[in-house]
Amino acid sequence: MEADDRPTLSVVVPCYNEEDVIEMTCERVKAVLDGLDITWEVVLVDDGSRDTTWELLKKIHTEDPRFRAISLSRNFGHQPAVYAGLQNSRGQAVGVIDADLQDPPEILVECLQRWQEGYQVIYGIRQKRKENIFKRTAYKTFYLLFRKMASIDAPLDSGDFCVMDRAVVETILSLPERHIFVRGMRAWSGFKSIGVAYARPARAAGEPKYSLMKLFQLAADGIFSFSVTPLRFASYVGTFVVGFCLAAILFVITWRLAGFEFMGSTARELPGWAGVIVSVFFLGGVQLLFLGILGEYVARIYNEVKRRPRWVAKEYLGNEFTKDV
Ligand code: UDP
Ligand code: MG
Repeated sequence: MEADDRPTLSVVVPCYNEEDVIEMTCERVKAVLDGLDITWEVVLVDDGSRDTTWELLKKIHTEDPRFRAISLSRNFGHQPAVYAGLQNSRGQAVGVIDADLQDPPEILVECLQRWQEGYQVIYGIRQKRKENIFKRTAYKTFYLLFRKMASIDAPLDSGDFCVMDRAVVETILSLPERHIFVRGMRAWSGFKSIGVAYARPARAAGEPKYSLMKLFQLAADGIFSFSVTPLRFASYVGTFVVGFCLAAILFVITWRLAGFEFMGSTARELPGWAGVIVSVFFLGGVQLLFLGILGEYVARIYNEVKRRPRWVAKEYLGNEFTKDV
């Protein structure tokens, strides 16, 4: 597509069972975008909703065809849905927001200003999270781990909420991986970026669509797709454990041969059950842990070599859509 034909801004909105809020979201997005003197489009991605979300999207598209929509054939997950939206966005700049109004569309105005100033990635920084303490601590821990482990400078506490320049979107779309972690890819792409702080309100309506399991998967994708530190960690701990075991073996042999008392008894008098059991459990645990870490990478390699499409669509509203290959 020629640069002149492109709308100034595309806004990608992934939706999964969002019938309670999606109309409200679209109205607010529309009000904000119409207030700006730009051409725009919204790319709504229905991630296999089982409620009436798709019917609502049809209605929204009919009323204003600047709202284009894709219906995925099943629930592929938030990240693939965002990716589908990016692949089908045409804007010179592309924004990504949640469907539940947790990313206030009004912030897009400031993001767009920054973009016009020449920044290429403008990401939202969540200042206040109105979520429970458990979720907040979990998020904090993840972002700290992610920053420490991934060798890229990912901003702390930023989600997928952002506005990206076309160049950044094209870079992200050129990455071949199937395990997608958009905010990681965005940071990896390394363009000129800036954060915009905003208070993150609670969900406007409906239940969170991210189960705890999905959140853990997302965190695992973030870390394992962007860092090999866990593998290195395996060799560090492995080296330490081997060293420790060698020292322990030397000690036990000396104890047995020299016959001195250790903790009140000589080796001869002690059946040694506790020592054996403890080391068996310990070594078994360490081995299982690192087998697990290896498994995470093997699973990812397996999924990458299969090269399946990241998402499959069954219906489109509007035109000029592309498939994932
Ligand atoms: N979402 C999606 N597919 C999923 C789960 C979530 O497209 O499998 C969308 C959801 O509709 C919302 C966004 O991803 O627009 C964020 O989801 P949610 O609000 O549940 O996550 P949280 O705000 O709790 O991180
Ligand atoms: Mg939410």
